[in-house]
Amino acid sequence: MSSAFRRTVRGMRDLLPEEAEKLRFIEETARKLARLYGYREVITPVVEHYGLLSAKIGEETRKRMYVFEDLGGRKVALRPEFTASVARLVATRMRSVPKPLRLFSVGSLYRYDEPQFGRYREFWQSNYELFGSSKPEADAEIVALTADLLKRINLRDYHLKMNHVGILRGILDKEGIAETQQNDVMQLLDKKRWEDALKLVQEAGGSKRCLDNVRALLDIRGKDTDEVTEEMREVAQGYPEGLEAVKNLREILSLIEKSGVESDFFLEAGFARGLEYYTGMIFEIFVPGMDIALGGGGRYDKLIELFGGGIVPAVGVAPGIDRLSLALDKQETVPQKTGEERVLVIPVDDDMVVEAFGISSFLRKKGLCTEIEAMGRSVSRALSDADRRGITHAVIVGPREMRQGKVVLREMEKRRQETVSLEELHEKIGRNNGQQINTG
Ligand code: AMP
Repeated sequence: MSSAFRRTVRGMRDLLPEEAEKLRFIEETARKLARLYGYREVITPVVEHYGLLSAKIGEETRKRMYVFEDLGGRKVALRPEFTASVARLVATRMRSVPKPLRLFSVGSLYRYDEPQFGRYREFWQSNYELFGSSKPEADAEIVALTADLLKRINLRDYHLKMNHVGILRGILDKEGIAETQQNDVMQLLDKKRWEDALKLVQEAGGSKRCLDNVRALLDIRGKDTDEVTEEMREVAQGYPEGLEAVKNLREILSLIEKSGVESDFFLEAGFARGLEYYTGMIFEIFVPGMDIALGGGGRYDKLIELFGGGIVPAVGVAPGIDRLSLALDKQETVPQKTGEERVLVIPVDDDMVVEAFGISSFLRKKGLCTEIEAMGRSVSRALSDADRRGITHAVIVGPREMRQGKVVLREMEKRRQETVSLEELHEKIGRNNGQQINTG
């Protein structure tokens, strides 16, 4: 084997059990939340037509797609996000499904990003989309659901950075600046290149008044949502669409705040997102000490129409599972122990292997996570290995006890053991376990 094959491809990772468990903990929490809020899962392919994925993704991500020709000569790509695939479904096979339609997806995505902390070429997202409603309730639900997920995985000190793209678009629309140029301005803002964005507005024909207003808008930010939206409203005077956008943002925030959603907000009028399809409220998740977003979302009311599915407003969020896991690591939050028993069945010698095998099967049927000592080691060596691996109970199968239909049950942590009959073995293991079982 060439030595190059001993490493993963750049930007790709092997996830060892501990890392995989952390990601799956977040995924499982995200899945439970989907059920709780009425989002049904759809599974879409990793490989899609390039044309579908590139339609509205935004220049930055478009350049970073894994694109190739399949053996049938089709130009295809690995999905860099879920929204295009889910929108395709809603525009086609799910077109006649009554609205509102709440859909959930989870899985791996691919972007040829420059590998660095929290940036990989294969990463995982959970994704929630609500189709059919343009009401602020829908936006508020997506934000509330996001805050709920963060709370359930025990993330601390997070805040949601928020804006409404309709404010800036309202100003640029009135100046007759085309949507494609507006998108370019947004992309520059996404990269925090404020001056370049202003230059582009000027080049696109923006008047002095327009430039002054955009400059003033880009300066507006803060935690006090009433105060900041008031400043936004002042700048948007004279731009009816912009004013409408501020009003919409206020309604969404008021719903969220009044319903007791636990999250801090930071409004920033110059904040944009890389994906082009947003038409309304947008937001991203941040924690102190990490300057990358842990997830993002917003409203996109025109995408389904673009895919030929009629006018279907939509709002969604995509929490990034890898980055949430990194944030939990940084905050030294360990996923809650499930309090599950883990049993190791040890035959004292080769003659007891068949019995030990049978007892393992029986315990698994009773729902207990059970391994068998598969290395033929002595009882003492198997026990010290069990200690190291966090096994809670050892079942030692020897001929003397078996003749009476019994085995030795050892509680690993308490270093206590007793002889118990096979009939009561599974109940004893369940009862002996002092840890609380988390059924949440
Ligand atoms: P986006 O689809 O660009 O809005 O991204 C949504 C979330 O996906 C981000 O906030 C990240 O958590 C995650 N994400 C995006 N790109 C990457 C990447 N290259 N590596 C890891 N996570 C990513």
